[in-house]
Amino acid sequence: MITIKNESQIEKMRKAGALLHSVLEALRAEIEPGVTTLHLDQMAEKLIRDAGAIPSFKGYEGFPFSICASVDDQVVHGFADRRKLRKGQLLSIDCGVILDDWQSDSAFSVLVGGGTPMAQKLVDVTEECFWIGANMAREGNRLGDLSHAIQVHAEKHGYGVIRDLCGHGIGQEMHEDPNVPNYGNPGRGVKLQRGMTIAIEPMISMGTWKVYCEDNDWTIVTRDHSLCSHYEHTVLITDGEPEVLSYPGKKVAEEVRR
Ligand code: MG
Ligand code: MG
Repeated sequence: MITIKNESQIEKMRKAGALLHSVLEALRAEIEPGVTTLHLDQMAEKLIRDAGAIPSFKGYEGFPFSICASVDDQVVHGFADRRKLRKGQLLSIDCGVILDDWQSDSAFSVLVGGGTPMAQKLVDVTEECFWIGANMAREGNRLGDLSHAIQVHAEKHGYGVIRDLCGHGIGQEMHEDPNVPNYGNPGRGVKLQRGMTIAIEPMISMGTWKVYCEDNDWTIVTRDHSLCSHYEHTVLITDGEPEVLSYPGKKVAEEVRR
């Protein structure tokens, strides 16, 4: 069931989104060669709990961490660990919070200490895919319009669009209807309405879109071990400009024009 949020519910999701944004920015500033993903996980949990919120990933279907830390060919759901990050690795951090019973979900990817132009392009194009998709998240459009826009942009660069995983509705639950795939046909799927809140999250690989799951039953890896990038925000659909709840003040139209 797709839930439509009212203004007071949206205001709570704004607060959850603002908190999550501040947490992710703090993590981003901490990332450098030598840092461990376990340190980032502990930092995230403390920041979230100190703000009176709950790390939504921790314990979700048994997931053991507050962040997903996915490195290089890991697509999503990577486990934090004690290995030191090395310069040039592609690190994706995904995190979610519950504040006052309302959820937010967001992810970014970065090259640890900087990396090759080829890898940076993958990270940049994945972010572009998000903004291009988010720009289509408007009342009256169909979900397929958004999915298709993401797919076209990624494939234009010769990249693979991960198909086994997708974005999702979000609200009081982390995963609500509808599914938000990163590939599809324009004019198809659910009609978007103001008050819908969805997590849009392109997962883009430098090679194949095919993936498998590691032995920990969580971590998803590209089958050809090509690099993969992930970028996500929680977005509110309105009758005009979509509002990126997990990136306060950011204007979708400005990002698309860049
Ligand atoms: Mg996420
Ligand atoms: Mg998500």
